[in-house]
Amino acid sequence: MATLWNSWQRLTRDAVNFVYPRSCVRCDTPLSESDAGFASNDEAFVSRFCRDCHRMLCCSIALPCLRCGAPVGPHLNTENGCRHCRRDQFQFDRVFALGIYEDALRACCLRVKQGSGGPLTAGLTDLLWTAYREEWSGLGIDLVVPIPHSWFQRAARRHLPPVTMSHVLARRLKVPQELHILSKPRHTPAQTSLTPAGRRTNLRNAFRIDGGARLDGLTILLTDDILTTGTTADRATRVLKDAGAKRIHVVVIARGVGQSSRR
Ligand SMILES: [Zn+2]
Ligand SMILES: [Zn+2]
Repeated sequence: MATLWNSWQRLTRDAVNFVYPRSCVRCDTPLSESDAGFASNDEAFVSRFCRDCHRMLCCSIALPCLRCGAPVGPHLNTENGCRHCRRDQFQFDRVFALGIYEDALRACCLRVKQGSGGPLTAGLTDLLWTAYREEWSGLGIDLVVPIPHSWFQRAARRHLPPVTMSHVLARRLKVPQELHILSKPRHTPAQTSLTPAGRRTNLRNAFRIDGGARLDGLTILLTDDILTTGTTADRATRVLKDAGAKRIHVVVIARGVGQSSRR
């Protein structure tokens, strides 16, 4: 009974915290009034993190590849990609990431998939928005679309990070979102369970546009929690572009590079 009561208290606190954060969504430290909004001059912005967590999690990729979002060295022209993506035929235009999938951000990415991961996902998405809002304002974004999940994933998980990210970014950018236009009609094995070659074939024909809708000329922000090989975002991008979308920009919490980020 005590466990049930603790779970209920946790759920209630998370629901309140989602709307009006009273404690840091990462470490539970109570937020003082001076913390609220400290991360931005925008009066509508209320930080969901304490100062220490904010400092640790705010955008940490100083020099991202203009194509895949991976960190690159200075003075490198990445218009045609970097060593992480040059051999891929990615159809998306750019990847925006908060940081590398390691350390504290990796721990956050594991937590956002849990049932209570909504407030943390919203907080991390706010950090993305503060990092890239000026660039995004110049991209002419028309629509926000989350990477879809199969019926099996939707039934098994209480929280889907790409959907929460889409809610937050659509509200911040004041553009519409489409939660159902892109769908995943068949269940596929988790990308983490496959070899790199297996991941590329696993998602072939996995996505589709529902109802034959057209997206002619639209610039779309595609949300997902992690990008590693880029296969998921690329497969979804191809379907969106086949429906007429002009540009697809991918937004992720973390960019996975190297062995520690297999996904
Ligand atoms: Zn904190
Ligand atoms: Zn790259």
